[in-house]
Amino acid sequence: MEDCLFCKIIAGEIPSSKVYEDDLCYAFYDISPLAPTHFLVVPKVHLASAADVTDETAPVVGHIYAVIARLARELGFAEGYRVVTNVGALAGQTVRHLHFHVLSGKELGSFN
Ligand code: AMP
Ligand code: ZN
Repeated sequence: MEDCLFCKIIAGEIPSSKVYEDDLCYAFYDISPLAPTHFLVVPKVHLASAADVTDETAPVVGHIYAVIARLARELGFAEGYRVVTNVGALAGQTVRHLHFHVLSGKELGSFN
């Protein structure tokens, strides 16, 4: 999608520090990490947020969770991590392309 930061990152038009890529998704380190390990996983298809997931597009979300579980084992943080997706400005979403934050490497505390 035009003028979408993460579509441009997926296309290689804007540089990123790649963690993983396959046909369906792309993972790259967050530019402003909030934990020792902090990367984002995005579907290659443009969806504005999790609010736009439908039965048709839901499989990519399951795939992304499977990728995250595998990366957690391969990168050595499977013992504990958090996956977060923000929906809408009120929840802190700043980039309107669905993305899953993966955070690990420190005590994350309880979420409430
Ligand atoms: P959110 O606030 O949930 O929309 O998350 C957007 C995330 O994208 C933030 O954590 C930003 O630090 C991150 N971000 C913004 N621009 C870039 C970029 N060019 N490369 C990597 N991460 C970015
Ligand atoms: Zn996009």
